[in-house]
This record gives sequence, C-alpha cells and structure tokens, in this order.
Amino acid sequence: MIKDLPLSAPVTEYHTVGIGAGPANLSLAALFESSTNQEIALFDRQPGPAWHNRLLHSGVRMQTSWLKDLVSLVDPRHELTFLNYLVTESRLFALLNSQFDVIPRLEYVRYLAWASGRLRNVRYGVDVDKISFGEGGFTVYSDGRAMARSHNLVIGMGSRPVIPAGLSGLPPERAFIADELAERLDEMSAHKDAPVAVVGGGQTGLEATMKLLGRGFTNIKWFGRRLWFDTIDDSPAANDVYRPAHVEALQRLSPVTRRQVIERLNPTGDALTPGAMRTLYQANYDGLLELDRFPVTLFPARDVTSAEFDGEHAVLSCSTPEKPEEHRAKFVVIATGRENVQVPFDDDLRERVETTFDGELMVDSDFSVRWKGMNGHKIFALNRARMALGLTDANLTLLPVRAAIVLNSMFEREIFQVRDELCAINWG
Ligand SMILES: Cc1cc2nc3c(=O)[nH]c(=O)nc-3n(C[C@H](O)[C@H](O)[C@H](O)COP(=O)(O)OP(=O)(O)OC[C@H]3O[C@@H](n4cnc5c(N)ncnc54)[C@H](O)[C@@H]3O)c2cc1C
Repeated sequence: MIKDLPLSAPVTEYHTVGIGAGPANLSLAALFESSTNQEIALFDRQPGPAWHNRLLHSGVRMQTSWLKDLVSLVDPRHELTFLNYLVTESRLFALLNSQFDVIPRLEYVRYLAWASGRLRNVRYGVDVDKISFGEGGFTVYSDGRAMARSHNLVIGMGSRPVIPAGLSGLPPERAFIADELAERLDEMSAHKDAPVAVVGGGQTGLEATMKLLGRGFTNIKWFGRRLWFDTIDDSPAANDVYRPAHVEALQRLSPVTRRQVIERLNPTGDALTPGAMRTLYQANYDGLLELDRFPVTLFPARDVTSAEFDGEHAVLSCSTPEKPEEHRAKFVVIATGRENVQVPFDDDLRERVETTFDGELMVDSDFSVRWKGMNGHKIFALNRARMALGLTDANLTLLPVRAAIVLNSMFEREIFQVRDELCAINWG
C-alpha cells in the first residue's frame, strides 16, 4: 500500500492526477490511457475497489443500462467495455440467460474492479487531505506526505450521506444513515415487531425498506417527502433528457431558466426503479398473507422535519399538505440524500477557485473549474455541477461522454468526437 512508502520516497510526476476512483474518474482514466502516452494516476481513500459497498444489499439492481459502461458511448472498441468484461470473465451466457432488465449492482461493482485492475496507476488506501499548487503544478498530500505532482487535476470525489439537522439529536444507536443498516441488523433483530421508520422516499429508502422486510421486520413505516413515490420515467422523451443534445441545449439557457428546467426534469431520473417498487409491493402482499396486515406502510407527502427521543421511541414530527402528524419508531433509518464531498484545497488554492452562490465550484461546460492563476494548468470536476450541466452530471448515464469532453479540453484537440445530431426533439 502506498502509505507504507518511506518518508523520503520521491514524488512521482504525472500528467494528470484524479482524486477518487469512482466510476467518473475510472471512465476518465480508461479513455485517457487509450488516447495518449502521458500518465494519469487516480488516488482513492478506500482500501480497494469498491462502489457504494455499504448499500450493496443482496438483489439490488442498477438504474442504468449496462451499455452505459465506462467507455462504450464514445469508444465501443475500447478494451474496458462491459461486454469485454463479461467475455473475459466467462460470464456472458450466464448473465444473458438470466434475462435481467437491469444488471445487479454487484455485477457493476465487479466490472469496476476488473477495469480498475487493468489501469496503470490506480492507488487505493490514499486519503487525499491536501491539494496545493506551485511551480511544478499540483501536489496532492495524504497524512502530511506528498503523494504525487501533476500538470492537471480531476476531482471525482463523489458524495456522502447527510443527516438533516432535525434528526441529528436522536441517539445514534437508534437513528443512523442507511449505509449503516447492514451492520446494525443483528442487534435490531431482537425487536422485529417494533416500529422501524425509514425516512427518505428515494431509491436508498426503498432498498432499506426491502432489506428490513427481507429480514423479517413486521412494522416498517416508509416516509417520503414528495406527493407520491415517483418511479423513474423511462419513456423515450424522458430518456432524451439524458443525451448530449439536451446537455448542449441546456447551455444555451440563462442560469436562472436552466436551474428551473433542471429542477422540473428531476423526477425523470431522481426517482425509484419501477421493478424494485413492484418487488416491494409483492413482498408486502406476501407479508399481508402471513400477518393479516401489511408489514410495510408507505407515507407519502410526509416531510419529517424534527424528532425527539422520549426514552423509548423516536417521535418524528412530520409536516403534510394538511395537518402535522407524529409517528413513533424504535429505530430510524435515514436516507434523505447526499452532499458533495469537500475538496481538500489548501488555503491558497481555495482562495483562487471560483465558487457559486451556494459554495460549489464554478464548473464550465467542459467540466473545467474556473480559478485564478492557472497558467496552463487545469482543474476539472465531475459530478459536481448538476444545476449548471444538467441531470447527467450526477449519474452514470453519460460518463464516457463527459470524460471525452474533459480530455478534448485538456489536450486542446478533438480526440473524441462528441456528436448527437439525430434527435427528434428541438429543445430550443
Ligand atoms: C447506492 C447508489 C446507487 C447508485 N446507482 C446509480 C445507478 O444505477 N445509475 C446511475 O446513473 N447513478 C447511480 N447513482 C448515482 C451516481 O451515479 C453515483 O453516486 C456515482 O458513484 C458517482 O460517481 P463518482 O465517481 O462521481 O463518485 P463515487 O462513486 O462516489 O466515487 C468517489 C470516490 O472518491 C473517493 N474519495 C472521496 N474523497 C476522497 C479523498 N479525500 N481522497 C481519496 N479518495 C476520495 C471515494 O472513496 C470514492 O471511491 C447511485 C448512487 C448511490 C449512492
């Protein structure tokens, strides 16, 4: 592991360093390595390849087609396609004949690990805690030690779960983020008939509810803020939102209109997988047959605004479109969303980068970050500018396209063609 290097180890120079080795930066590194002889290195704090592993309950599925892998959308002949993974690992026929609508998330995790193992410089176990800029370019540090120096930097650090202020006062052994559910289940299992609340009507909330149901809990209350538990709109026109033509069209709008459009389109993707919702309904019906009542109750349009602990239960206060409600639960699983991980720029770099009114990096349409004194050195940021670049900038649907746009900008030539002209929608 790189942390075991002696303190005097020389600092390796790279053309580009990526912080994070999630799908966004793996896609970038895959296309980088196939298009130039320069070197790119990725640093990730996890001990080895992983992707949201704490939420990897058995049976969970992807929300995106397997064709949306790390490379295929811009380079289907690349060595690191999902198809090549299947063939190389002798899984093609078994997977095909299993007739999945969307592949298991564990398969995607295995694919990412396979791809990362074929890239030249992916370093795990390195928590980057400082990034500075000097004459030689960017230097990234971990634990006080300079790990690498590079001409360019790509931020692909992802997001982390958030506990809303209203729920933060509950005892941590009773209220915890969905990421901790798998670790807590054994101790919770002594209370299978006690009320358990799942707060958050998104896919993570749904998967936590399914997990509890599968483990025999009989009184699960699932709360969602929206008026209904929306499922993803997989219709052709909704899918046209997730293609380069629409991302380009968004750039022609004023920032205010763009934000409004993106917010209105949010339910096309930030919603539940229909198949998973059907599975929940059927499992809940099976539960009804056994218990004579539904083990899961869904509570839409309930915004859980605050909570108190009365010594026995968490008492959740909900606002609704009509009158406020209170609900009691022995355990509370929090699945209310995620926020961007902070970039560990040192004070000098933090002063130089431009930020938006809400403190996020100012990201241009080529994913470059605006900053002062760049002198030919570029910083790119992936998955951090949803309100500027559209819904695709927080998911996997256009990963290789985004990586291609970054590389074209980084090398100032069209290495990859990004064209999407055959579109029946005129976005205006
Ligand atoms: C459970 C779950 C399932 C999802 N499923 C889908 C899906 O099916 N389809 C879809 O389109 N979208 C999905 N998303 C949304 C989104 O596509 C993913 O969050 C995706 O992982 C984002 O990729 P990323 O590379 O930007 O970030 P991440 O995958 O979060 O990767 C970031 C990496 O950076 C590392 N890192 C962070 N800080 C540091 C640091 N200081 N030093 C070193 N390393 C660091 C982390 O360890 C991590 O490995 C899902 C999200 C979640 C939470």
